[in-house]
Amino acid sequence: MQEKPVYNRIMLKMSGEALAGDHGYGIDPDRAEEICEKVKGIHDLGVQIAIVIGGGNIWRGAQGVARGMEQSTADHIGMIATVMNGLALQDALERLGGKTRVQTAIEMKAVAEPYIRLRAIRHMEKGRVVIIAGGTGNPYFTTDTAAALRAVEVNAEIVIKATKVNGVYSADPKKFPDATRYETLSYKQVLTDRLQVMDMTAFTLCEENKMPILVLDLWSGDDLKRAVLGDHSVGTLIQA
Ligand code: UDP
Repeated sequence: MQEKPVYNRIMLKMSGEALAGDHGYGIDPDRAEEICEKVKGIHDLGVQIAIVIGGGNIWRGAQGVARGMEQSTADHIGMIATVMNGLALQDALERLGGKTRVQTAIEMKAVAEPYIRLRAIRHMEKGRVVIIAGGTGNPYFTTDTAAALRAVEVNAEIVIKATKVNGVYSADPKKFPDATRYETLSYKQVLTDRLQVMDMTAFTLCEENKMPILVLDLWSGDDLKRAVLGDHSVGTLIQA
């Protein structure tokens, strides 16, 4: 395997769940550190990294809506939850010696910069990992959509969706043991076969802007690093 990354700039999307640890809720600093070791591992290869972090380990708008809340309010809470996660990631990465900036789509100047596209790019060029929190800043969206949008905006070459599953399967592998994993998919095939990659808004944004998506398992050994080094056997790559 070559030791040179195949990407110059990536967008890494992680669900809030990744930070929850074994408790399934909230922020586990050990888990944050584990994640950031992986992030640092690829940053040390010279890859510019933007991270969009979700908030599902703390709050999802849908939880509130199911119990009668106004969706905009419930979603605002969710977006603010992602900022907490962003700060936890920043803390872990800085403790490992990384340089970071958190930018938020909802202004919170006492704790983070506002999201400013050119500034985000500049940070990455200077070797800082940019953690983009607050989703898109708008209710009715998800952080997958934020990742797709920001990836396009900052000219990332790919959205790496780091999950708990090592790619996209023909069916839910937990329910159907003989489900098979795709190594590559076209956007069209995802749509016709109704495969679960991202919500439709996020997916369409990627498709329309020819932004490749790589779905991989964040927790599986050094899959993230291997993917960045161009190992095609990792995860599922979706592109035109
Ligand atoms: N959210 C939102 N707009 C956005 C991104 C997120 O309203 O642009 C809210 C929404 O309520 C969502 C919550 O923030 O449920 C947490 O984000 P998400 O569910 O995407 O987090 P993840 O599942 O990736 O942890």
